[in-house]
Amino acid sequence: MNLNWEIANAVFPSVTRKLTDLEQLYPKRKLPVNAMVTRFAPSPTGFLHMGSLFASLCSWRYAKQSKGVFFCRLEDTDTKREITGSGNQVLQELAIYGIIPDEDFVLGGAYGPYVQSERKPIYDVVIKAMLLDDLAYPCFCTHEDLSAMRAKQESLKVNPGYYGEYATCRFLPKETVLAKLKNGDPFVIRFKSNGNQTHKIMITDLIRGSFEMTENDQDIVIMKSDGLPTYHFAHLVDDHFMRTTIITRGEEWMASLPIHLQLFDAMGWDRPQYAHLPVIMKIDEGTRRKLSKRKDPEAAVSYFLEAGYPIEGFLEYLMTIANTNFEAWRIENPQANIFDFQLSFAKMTLDGALFDLEKVKSISKDRLAFMSADEITNKALAWANIYEPQFALAIASDVDYFKAIISIERGGEKPRKDYAKYSDIFPIIDFMYDQYYDQYMSGELPFNESLSKDILIKVLNTYKANPSLDLQESEWFEKLKVLASICGFSPSVKEYKKNKEAFYGHIGDFAEIIRIAVSGRKNTPNFYYILKILGTERINKRINKTIALLEE
Ligand code: GLU
Repeated sequence: MNLNWEIANAVFPSVTRKLTDLEQLYPKRKLPVNAMVTRFAPSPTGFLHMGSLFASLCSWRYAKQSKGVFFCRLEDTDTKREITGSGNQVLQELAIYGIIPDEDFVLGGAYGPYVQSERKPIYDVVIKAMLLDDLAYPCFCTHEDLSAMRAKQESLKVNPGYYGEYATCRFLPKETVLAKLKNGDPFVIRFKSNGNQTHKIMITDLIRGSFEMTENDQDIVIMKSDGLPTYHFAHLVDDHFMRTTIITRGEEWMASLPIHLQLFDAMGWDRPQYAHLPVIMKIDEGTRRKLSKRKDPEAAVSYFLEAGYPIEGFLEYLMTIANTNFEAWRIENPQANIFDFQLSFAKMTLDGALFDLEKVKSISKDRLAFMSADEITNKALAWANIYEPQFALAIASDVDYFKAIISIERGGEKPRKDYAKYSDIFPIIDFMYDQYYDQYMSGELPFNESLSKDILIKVLNTYKANPSLDLQESEWFEKLKVLASICGFSPSVKEYKKNKEAFYGHIGDFAEIIRIAVSGRKNTPNFYYILKILGTERINKRINKTIALLEE
């Protein structure tokens, strides 16, 4: 009897399906000619990393632009590194950014299962076929054997690894292999490489172009002793039978490409195309380095969600690092949907993309400034409900009141850009709510110390009697100048500067007194609108309260 057959059956006694069965079960996808099938393949090892959001955004856009398919597969075969539940968290965070796979490990789909640990029956069929075809073999080397081999290679100053003459199990007589298997000796399965270190192969990467790399000569492990596949082998099987056409993945996988191409070729399967995406870098004390999960809080996408950066601002930022021509397009199309922009591999940044928080802020400010009052209200409330309950309560206590506040200097071509993130809003406007106003008033009030209590009270009483909020802003301001004059303040800053002795201060100083009384603070958004929204009743109450405090 054929010994390969016996070996294959000794390893997989109950596997009866063949490669042709899998080909039938997972046929080529029926899609338009240039449609791309892309995927995001996270390992469930923790939070969604910014680099992963970037990679999945690109992959998703390429699929959508070409009317293809984007799916998400969970790579959970490294059981030691697994953090329970993190796979689902990753899907949820992607969904927050609008990245919804067509098929994934929750939704399912025709090419599943989408969790590697559930795909063992598929891997087994392929490995059994490889054993039968002499493309793979069991290896019984122990850790000690491998250490001894490494030591020998070091002393001989030859390349390390399991290859050529060092691939000892490759040369075991088949009878011995069979006997060891029957004896229950622990083993892994290795791929039988026909490569040679002196050969170069031509690599084509959609982003980096064509270049040479050294052929792989290592008999890499494809199935570990726990029966689960290694990354290399799972990539081969999954992306073949899930019919991925373009592998978009981090550039750290570039070095393994000769192995992957060799595996596809050995199986006689079409090679997918590859696009190795740039890694996201940061400048740390003057040097560029990879954004690190451990050192950089901003490496986690949740950092930006918690801080309340608007989703659309963050996505737009990622588009600027994806394609070098995105920003020029944005200038031409300031209000267009960012996904009207067609991402291209040719315009991808080649060097590690540099993360720039200031730019995230400035893009986010733009996006928040151009939202309608309704939109920003809904989004701020949704954010606050999760991350800042007291802000959510304030908004929900009177949604129209909040909308009026957030509408100040909104709309038109040049809206004010006060907020980069939802968490910036409340600290700027909280005084509009009595409870928070009262907190400001319980502290030291920031009145100019050179003004006497009597002058302050006079100013406040004068304004209280003449709020003039039925006037337009410019007329109201003229009226304010008149009131300032009556109280001994110069209506003109210029005049005041010429003759400081003649006045208590200028119009700005005058307005500041009223501002402090109604807000507890020196700075507020546009004061006229603040007053109008507060309304005379609330203004009077606040002024009375301030006067009472001054008189204490
Ligand atoms: N699970 C691998 C990782 O998280 C995926 C690499 C790939 O996309 O092929 O790095």
